[in-house]
Amino acid sequence: MNREPLTMVCTCEMSGRVRGKGFPARELPSRMARGVGWVPTNAMINAFSAIPATPFGTGGDLILVPDPAAEFEVDFADGSAKEHFFLGDLRHLDGTPWELCPRDFLRRALAALHEETRLTLLSAFEHEFTYTGVDEAPGNAYSLDAFRRQGIFAEAFTAALRAAGCEPDSFMAEFGARQYEFTVDPAEGIRAADRAVVAREMARATAHRLGHRAVFAPILDPGGVGNGVHIHFSFRNAAGTPVMHDPADPLGLSPAARQFVAGILHHQPALCALTAPATTSYIRLRPNRWAPTHATLEQQDRAAAVRICPVTPGTDVARQFNVEYRVADAAASPYLALAAIVWAGMDGIRQQRDIPAESPALPATLDAALDALEASEAARDWMGASHHAAYLMHKRGEAAALAGLTEAEQCTRYAATY
Ligand code: GLU
Ligand code: MG
Repeated sequence: MNREPLTMVCTCEMSGRVRGKGFPARELPSRMARGVGWVPTNAMINAFSAIPATPFGTGGDLILVPDPAAEFEVDFADGSAKEHFFLGDLRHLDGTPWELCPRDFLRRALAALHEETRLTLLSAFEHEFTYTGVDEAPGNAYSLDAFRRQGIFAEAFTAALRAAGCEPDSFMAEFGARQYEFTVDPAEGIRAADRAVVAREMARATAHRLGHRAVFAPILDPGGVGNGVHIHFSFRNAAGTPVMHDPADPLGLSPAARQFVAGILHHQPALCALTAPATTSYIRLRPNRWAPTHATLEQQDRAAAVRICPVTPGTDVARQFNVEYRVADAAASPYLALAAIVWAGMDGIRQQRDIPAESPALPATLDAALDALEASEAARDWMGASHHAAYLMHKRGEAAALAGLTEAEQCTRYAATY
């Protein structure tokens, strides 16, 4: 059969789903400049492909422009069409960034961090997911048997990650039923969020080719454990030297790192709305699930919102030292989640905040988190008023659509989409 290669340019907006438009790859030279057409209301398409409400109506035109540095091409060598796509930026027709562009939201945060502190952010996302291609076997947490049972998924996925430039780091069977986890190497700035988007898509692409699914929904069974996204980060100074660690500090944090984490904890309730944005995110965030329950910083406690990760003595401690934000899941766009962390952290640096003594509980529901986001003047400043208002409308519409469903039914709905 004759075939002509296609490519696609994608964005990952408020729903955390990767959407975009395709075109013949031979048109790339002109598409690199003019992109593809997009509309503002697309940002309001929720996890279930519904648009309960939109501030934009049917009006407006945008362009989604491929980023030449974010091209991904992976051939699974199984006769299937190549995965070939770009991540891109949402712009007005005159080329200026759209206020709700998720990548630009992150770019602005990183630029402000750099401008005010000369720091660059290195981060890595750790992803947990449920693989439908294995049977549930009792006692299989972290087991070699569970590792074996996923068959060739892990090897095909590792090859895809490498081909996509995602630098695979680890793959393991996790604690939950049919649950696995992978990490990729850290990357600087916006590339880390791009990697998170692409890595999840490679897991889905691999599973799809094997006739299965990689499900990243926050939790599949209200009685089980959740699928978290843990965002590890550290700073580099202008010379590229790691500057997260200070051996003199009781927690090992440099002054900037301490203030940055204090900013995250200060803004944690509002941050939840951006990093844990599904109704079922709050089923995951309950005690005894190895998931965070309190807005705290801890050195060795997985129930903390922010955890200082262990380092191996005798190695380059400063380079290894990193902090992990645990209140995220895959319902969040990696751009929005990372941007929220950076804006909140930077507020901590600006206000010279210190780690709070108290340990407030995280919001118990998405509605409570959205109320905190609405009440946050700071978040409105970071996002811009129109992004802030549209985000609240998007998520409140989604939550309202699930009202009346049992927790198990909500989990099922999210499992079908993430
Ligand atoms: N599954 C847990 C979560 O939902 C995390 C387990 C771990 O610490 O790796 O965040
Ligand atoms: Mg884990």
